[in-house]
Amino acid sequence: MKPEYRKFLNKSGIIAHDKQHLHKIVKAIDTYDHAVERMIHQQFNDWQEARQKAAQIKEYVLDNLPELLETFEKNISAKGTKVLWAENSKEAQHHFLAIAKKHQVKKVVKMKSMTTEEISFNEMCEENGIEYWESDLGELIVQLAGEKPYHIVTPAMHKTTAEISQLFHEKLGSPITDDAEQLTMVARDHLRSAFITADLGITGANFLLAEEGAIGLTENEGNGRLTMSCPRVHVVIAGIEKVIPNLTQLAFFLPLLATIGTGQEITCYNSIVWGPRKNDEQDGPENMYVILLDNGRTKLYSDERFRSILRCIRCGACLNACPVYQVIGGHTYNTTYQGPVGSVITPHLRDMDQWAHLPFASSLCGSCSDVCPGHRSCWPPLHRLIRRIETVAGSGPRADFW
Ligand code: SF4
Repeated sequence: MKPEYRKFLNKSGIIAHDKQHLHKIVKAIDTYDHAVERMIHQQFNDWQEARQKAAQIKEYVLDNLPELLETFEKNISAKGTKVLWAENSKEAQHHFLAIAKKHQVKKVVKMKSMTTEEISFNEMCEENGIEYWESDLGELIVQLAGEKPYHIVTPAMHKTTAEISQLFHEKLGSPITDDAEQLTMVARDHLRSAFITADLGITGANFLLAEEGAIGLTENEGNGRLTMSCPRVHVVIAGIEKVIPNLTQLAFFLPLLATIGTGQEITCYNSIVWGPRKNDEQDGPENMYVILLDNGRTKLYSDERFRSILRCIRCGACLNACPVYQVIGGHTYNTTYQGPVGSVITPHLRDMDQWAHLPFASSLCGSCSDVCPGHRSCWPPLHRLIRRIETVAGSGPRADFW
């Protein structure tokens, strides 16, 4: 049995019997389900048609991916942003460290970004003596707890207010409280100094706008805006599949992502970043870089059987819908991307041999396909991709699970 598979079985065997954990997750997902259900009806006349349109736009993107990326690079470079291409995590780390060295970076502030998780950004900073602070509240909580994000959208979903209060008390010296707003103020006070003193801000990108040569970012706390505008250097690390043709698609995707991701009409802060500060501007970073990350994506792109998973907009809905995720929780996967989407992409982004057990942690019930905005009408449904990975992985360990 492969080490990762053994770890997975051990962890899932323990967590599946943890009633407190189950209670926390079911409560969080119930809240999410109600908010999404309400918003879908409030915001869209025909939600299924909206999902279908999302899948079709993303399919268009995949059909034209090389051209769109070239257009993006040309247009954002023209505004003074340097574009770097990274074939894998190691190359992305190499680019970042070269930027950090050139600009004498000692301290970094981070916006929530799964792509930085993918390249082990935090571990790289620790190894190279670079101080870093997560600026997203959920990410800050897991950083202080010494954990990885539990969920791709809500990284601290598994923590109660009491647990966060205790954590802040121990790590930041704040008084114990059951007032969530007071805890938010503790994080805010702590982060203000990080924004002001950081040399570099790092973000991901929810979308790359090809025609405009710009970055689209969506968030709820405003921490992203401070991350990208206060420090003198802004670095973006984005997967190559994040490109879309132009602002018209952004106007469609922002409310769709807010609806299915968090049950909101629109997220609180939506930014379009056009480049570094111009000569006649008073604020913004002096230098801006975009690192375009492949890290196994072209391998997925060239495999017709799995290419459609690149339609994913990282909304997290398939995790919330998955009955297996609800029972074993996010940390059991030990991957950047958990749940159904993670089970399809992780074996491709990392190593098929080590991670071939992931697709077997699925009931194949199709709940993920029912909610995914990237797999409506455009064949294949998400759970079919999971089944296909099982086929690639061989007869596999399904019998061990069920
Ligand atoms: S696979 Fe679909 S449901 Fe899952 S995160 Fe991606 S877009 Fe959302």
